[in-house]
Parts: sequence; C-alpha cells; structure tokens
Amino acid sequence: MRENRQTTEISQVGEFGLIEHLTSDIKPEHPTTLLGIGDDAAIIEAGEQSMVITTDMLIEGIHFDLSYTPLKHLGYKAVAVNLSDVYAMNANATQITVSIGISSRFAVEDIHDLYSGIKHACKVYKVDLVGGDTVASQSGLVISITALGRQSLKKIVKRSGAKENDLICVSGDLGSAYWGLKLLMREKEATRNAPELKPKFEGYEYLLERQLKPEPRKDIVRKLSEAGILPTAMIDISDGLSSEILHICKNSNKGCRIYDEKIPIHPQSTKLSNEFQIDPVVAALNGGEDYELLFTISPSDYEKVSQIRDISIIGHILPNPQQHEIVFRDGTTIPLMAQGWNAFRIDK
Ligand code: ADP
Ligand code: MG
Repeated sequence: MRENRQTTEISQVGEFGLIEHLTSDIKPEHPTTLLGIGDDAAIIEAGEQSMVITTDMLIEGIHFDLSYTPLKHLGYKAVAVNLSDVYAMNANATQITVSIGISSRFAVEDIHDLYSGIKHACKVYKVDLVGGDTVASQSGLVISITALGRQSLKKIVKRSGAKENDLICVSGDLGSAYWGLKLLMREKEATRNAPELKPKFEGYEYLLERQLKPEPRKDIVRKLSEAGILPTAMIDISDGLSSEILHICKNSNKGCRIYDEKIPIHPQSTKLSNEFQIDPVVAALNGGEDYELLFTISPSDYEKVSQIRDISIIGHILPNPQQHEIVFRDGTTIPLMAQGWNAFRIDK
C-alpha cells in the first residue's frame, strides 16, 4: 500500500492478531468504561443497570450471497447476530442502530424488504431501532448494526470468569448453520446452468433455517436466570466451538477438556454430513454462525442445569492454561485448535 515500507500480509496475523495489534495500546480514559475491547460487548457504567454495547458488520460477497439470501431474512439475521453478543453478556437487549451502504443496483423496494426483516427481529426480540446512517456504496450492500443492552453489573457475564472444574455447557446444536450454507452452495452450483432444475432442499429445512434465519438465545438467558444459575463465563458461538472455547480459556487463564460424543448435533446435520463425507464433529468445532451460547457454570449448578431442555454439558475447565483437549469416543485425545471462521485465513 505504501512505497519503501516493509509490509505484513493481514493473513499472516489473522483477524484476532490484527485486532490485538491495533488495540493492545488502547487504555480507557473514563471510569465509566468498565470493560473495553476483548469480550462480546463492552460494559459501560450507566446507573443501577450497566449498559453493554456491541457492533457487527455484514458485507455482501463476504458474509452473505444475495443469490440465495432473501433480503428480508438478511435484515433479520443482521439484527440477530448483534443481539447474540448482547445475550452472551447475560444482558437484556434494548436498542439498536442500523447503518447501511447501498449501491445503485438496489431499488427502494429491496431496502424496504431488508427493513421488514430488521423490524420483524426488533419486534420478536423487543428492541427499539433508535438511529443509524444511510450512505452510498460502490461495491454492493453493507449493513452495520450496533446493539445496546442492560443488566446489573453483578449479573453481567464475561469471557474471563471460568474456574477450575467448572462445567462447560452449550445451548442448542452445533454445525447446522455450516451445513445449511454447504447445502445452499451445492444447490446453487447444481442449478447454475439449468434454470429448469429446482434446488433440492427436502429433508434439510432445519439446516436452511439455521443458516438463513438464526435465532439468538434470549430464551437461554431467561431460563438460566429462572433456574437461579449465573454462568461464570459466557460467549456466543459465531466462529465454531473450538475457537470460542479457546477465547473463554484465554480470557480466564484456564484450560479445557471436551468430549466429542457430548457435542450436540442435529440429525439433519448428521445426514447431510454423510453425503459430504465430512465428520459432523469437525463442522461443529470449526463451522460458523451457530449463534448458540457457550458458557461455564459451577459444578454445584449441575442438578439445576440438567433440568433445562436444550442445554448440553460437553466438558469441564482444567487448571492448566496450556491444556485444551478433545476426547474422542475411542479414548484418543487431541489438542483443540482454533480453525474457526477466520475471514483472513490464507487457505480460504
Ligand atoms: P464477536 O465475534 O463477539 O463479535 P470479535 O471477534 O469481532 O467479537 O471481536 C473481539 C473484540 O475485539 C470485541 O471486543 C470487539 O469489540 C473488538 N474489536 C473488533 N474489531 C475491532 C476494531 N477494528 N477496533 C477496535 N476493537 C475491535
Ligand atoms: Mg460474540
């Protein structure tokens, strides 16, 4: 980009390396900044209930493909992925702002469709749309959403609180959104030169839904609260289980052991994974966009958490921060690696 200057490819440091490089010297000035960069959301002091704030951007051609993503679904998903980060702090989402970049290719009706999805998500999750920005874009559609939430400080859950022997839990099932994407891409390819053919989605409707219309787990935050469980650490799963569990371990300065047979996988994911001959556990570990919650709880909450439907206990926290393991059914153990959905990975 600049002449006579030694440069580093972004792919060499990766997304997280770049963020660390850019932000490691940022020190908050204001005492109201209770937590800055490094979690699913920042925490700001705001009276009795603190505020959490998070932002995410979606770019056409990188995060979505409009050839198989209806604009209404895209609007819904853009809100959902932001709210997921608010719920990952154990907070209640309250407001969003929406900023869009639009190219001349889009008609008023298209943006109306996008907004009908955005408004629908606001209604479902009871959040107010309170502002944003509208600009021209040369390269397709860009959507950036900022979400705010509230919670009393003692109930806000960070990535950093996991303790030795804590149980590692996950909501819902993992890998389904990845399989939904694989299916959409396969059928796009199969019908590319044959418009008379219809894409074959029968039997895989759940996977499509998980890819096109993810639901952030507000219900899990509520159920945990009703059961009297306060997780010790929490994160949402946007980049695959292994990447996210390693974030909890790094921020908590702990290790982990998880068991492959405990990882929840939907029957439709297992079925499609057979067609692709890819291990569904690999997809659960490294796939993206599940937007489930991954959290740790004290072992004393075992009985309570076992009563909640849709939560699986998949392992426990180890004291050694260098030890991250997955144990397979046959007893073999391998180190967990974060392949994740790293947008700057070289081999993508
Ligand atoms: P998530 O997957 O939960 O959205 P990210 O992996 O995107 O989180 O970001 C990790 C942390 O880094 C967050 O605290 C986020 O606010 C912060 N972050 C990401 N990109 C930037 C940036 N360009 N400048 C400052 N902070 C950033
Ligand atoms: Mg997150």
